[in-house]
Amino acid sequence: MDVMFDMIGTFPSRVTILGAARSGIAAAKFLRDRGVTVFLSDRCPQEKLEKIIAENGLAGVTFEAQKHTEAALKANLIILSPGVPSDLPVVVQAKKLSIPVWSEMELGFRVSRAPFLAVTGSTGKSTTVSLVGSALASAGIEHVVAGNIGLPVIGLTPNVSQKGFVVAEVSSFQLETIERFHPKAAVVTNLTKNHLDRYPSEEAYCSAKMEISRNLTQNDYLILNACDARLFSWGKEMSGRVRIVYFGANVPGHDSFWCDGTIMMYRFTETCGTLGDCRRMKLQGRHNFDNASAAAVLAKIAGAPDEAIFDGLSSFKGLPHRLEFVAEIDGVRWYNDSKSTTAESIDCAVRSFDGNVHLIAGGKDKGCDFSVVGKAVKERVKSVVLIGEAAARIESQWKGLAPIIRALTLQDAIEKMISGTRQGDTVVFSPGCSSFDMFRDFEDRGEQFCLVVRKYAGREMPNG
Ligand code: ADP
Repeated sequence: MDVMFDMIGTFPSRVTILGAARSGIAAAKFLRDRGVTVFLSDRCPQEKLEKIIAENGLAGVTFEAQKHTEAALKANLIILSPGVPSDLPVVVQAKKLSIPVWSEMELGFRVSRAPFLAVTGSTGKSTTVSLVGSALASAGIEHVVAGNIGLPVIGLTPNVSQKGFVVAEVSSFQLETIERFHPKAAVVTNLTKNHLDRYPSEEAYCSAKMEISRNLTQNDYLILNACDARLFSWGKEMSGRVRIVYFGANVPGHDSFWCDGTIMMYRFTETCGTLGDCRRMKLQGRHNFDNASAAAVLAKIAGAPDEAIFDGLSSFKGLPHRLEFVAEIDGVRWYNDSKSTTAESIDCAVRSFDGNVHLIAGGKDKGCDFSVVGKAVKERVKSVVLIGEAAARIESQWKGLAPIIRALTLQDAIEKMISGTRQGDTVVFSPGCSSFDMFRDFEDRGEQFCLVVRKYAGREMPNG
């Protein structure tokens, strides 16, 4: 057997994959190509699954559509695509039958020769892994950025040598089904009241995130946000078991990466240093300085020199749908922050501007506590337009802090904003909710926003 599969040992003869989305399909291809009999089970309609199988060259893979049946249990291993809940009856049944159930992340880890640098947390994961990627690229260190960011780990890890790194964005759902997943270093960006629709309590959600440390030992690093009270005290608890590094503030007695004003500084393995002035970064906003500090820790652990780290962090332009500048209409600047699915993300978005902010928010209600944005709304927001299922609850929490109106659709919200803003203002679309009530996903929501805004911006241009 190829040496790269040492961690997995012998491949099981029959594997069921639950969920035919990107990661499930990548796992199916990987295993099929290694002689494993793959069975794909998805709740989508038959024709849709047949199309997915044909388009991905998976002829010969057996499958079931519309529901997960007993057939899915005829396997030596079950792999879950990230979107598939680990408490599905078929998964519970598999566990009763002692069939191992792994996330696609666990599979990717087991076949990787390269160490993992993992990032989890409620917000800032994709931005942080991308910043790490940029810093490692700038240092010429072999790596891939994969995971929840939309690139299945199993599709990429087999190509990375043992000298390289897998920078993995890991969701709490993926952490529910890990076994030996053991990153060299793991960042937890923050813990907020996220996904309370899927977890019974805040504690259950936080415990799921803390699973990232399950296999860490004294030679590994756990990198925690010093400004998050729960993570700060968790670090104190864990400090005998694993090397703790804090970011976001200087924590005396601990390795730390932080911004002193705008200067990024660190104390790490008994060395102190300055990385650079954050005003040089293309990404702005206090939250992005924190993301960059966390990314700097991982890049440092990977052996990148300070100058290359900061060059990589400062040249990174940001990801689409995260406070992305869209267009200017009549002197008003419009930003798309469709990836914002928590109240804390709305808070960060609003605080990234000095004032004169007009906010479009709302979507599918995940149970977030929107009162955390109250202060920022009161101090910086001139008007609010709310959409979606969560509109009534948000309005009740922000009543009296700024003028609030409702809109039926996103287009309606944009039109209301166009007539209510004037030169020098900023409009931010930062929903703070999931998108599934009105859109396919956050990308679809952000693209529709950009499309409408650009259409209006085009009308304003003489030759547009
Ligand atoms: P994730 O991958 O965890 O969803 P992203 O990097 O995609 O995080 O950012 C998601 C949203 O959260 C965006 O609206 C972004 O502006 C905001 N955000 C990014 N970093 C942070 C942070 N450290 N704290 C709070 N919000 C953040």
